[in-house]
Amino acid sequence: MAFKPANNIQDLQYFGEFGGVNPSISDSSTYTFLSAKTMFDTFEGNADGCYLYSRHSTPSNLYLGEALAAMEATETANVSASGMGAITATILQLCGAGDHVISSRTIYGGTYAFFKNFTPRFNIKTTFVDITKLDSVEAAITKNTKVLYCESVSNPLLEVADIKGLSEIAKKHGLKLVVDNTFSPLSISPATLGADIVIHSLTKFINGSSDTVGGVVCGTQEFINNLRNVNDGASMLLGSTMDSLRAASILKNLRTLHIRMQQHSKNGLFLAERFEADGLKTVYPGLKSHPSYELFKSMMNEAYGFGGMLTIDVGSLEKANELMELMQHRNLGYLAVSLGFYKTLFSAPGSSTSSEIPEDEQKEMGLSDGLIRFSIGLDADINRTYKMMRTCMIDVGILELQKA
Ligand code: PLP
Repeated sequence: MAFKPANNIQDLQYFGEFGGVNPSISDSSTYTFLSAKTMFDTFEGNADGCYLYSRHSTPSNLYLGEALAAMEATETANVSASGMGAITATILQLCGAGDHVISSRTIYGGTYAFFKNFTPRFNIKTTFVDITKLDSVEAAITKNTKVLYCESVSNPLLEVADIKGLSEIAKKHGLKLVVDNTFSPLSISPATLGADIVIHSLTKFINGSSDTVGGVVCGTQEFINNLRNVNDGASMLLGSTMDSLRAASILKNLRTLHIRMQQHSKNGLFLAERFEADGLKTVYPGLKSHPSYELFKSMMNEAYGFGGMLTIDVGSLEKANELMELMQHRNLGYLAVSLGFYKTLFSAPGSSTSSEIPEDEQKEMGLSDGLIRFSIGLDADINRTYKMMRTCMIDVGILELQKA
């Protein structure tokens, strides 16, 4: 395989100011200039390598951005204070009043709310489509469409986007394909499949320690320069800047992402196969029963597996809550939103991370009340975890319920 995203991170060589093996952290909000002329040139964007003010960029943020760009095989990247900071800046950079977005209907609830409730204020309209149906995606294009938006693996339904197919449509109609790759870092490399812009919430697998929020936009040098432009750049002007201390700590965590993803994926596949065999309604892209199993396989960087996210449907919100409370009580994970932690995290998306989506729309897209989303942890003995989870399911009557 020619493309090795983890090696691209591994091969980066940064020295600290004093020869340290980690780059020094830039602990300044502003920077001095020896000549006033250089300051002026920097404002004009003509003084490469000069730092101006930390909302614009910082050495630490650039190091992290370059590592993420290497991982996603894009020219460069811009980190931001959160995943939403990356998504909102990207959309507002690409779209103005009168423009139109086509988005997958199954996306993170906050992104959905941004498209549905917030951007219409600026007369940016969004049509939500079933992203797995390329015909309906193309049919939704109007003369005002600028952006095709999706998640590689969608939150929370784990639908898989055909990035090559979507990229062909985008190229044919002159649209930008923006892909949120938060659920499948390393496993899927959207830019190599034709995505123009790749976004992550770094809050999740990439940082992996649930101690910070963060985001990144990976793209061409031209687009990232546009985002940072002092006159009309959405990142610069909306101001969702990552703090340098955070950038330095995320960069350190990024170095173990490949090992963590392998373990998340190994454990995810193990549990998904067992849950399915037990008769639970299980969704995981690595199960042959997943409608896009072959598609995921055709896109994936095999070494990193099918990821750590799976869902089961236990029939009702009451049962879901009962099970999650019991699993937390027995120390099998945390009843918490978010993902990519060393412990398993579980939540019922209908009443949490997707609650921004109206109930009738949740139903239409197959987001049922009893759905539990799992972000599978790094457990060393996943068989033991499985047995204990199974006992919880029997204790709350879910396995009998499913088998009946
Ligand atoms: N994209 C996806 C797929 C997410 O799951 C989330 C958060 O849950 C976001 C974006 C938003 O990221 P953040 O919470 O870092 O702003």
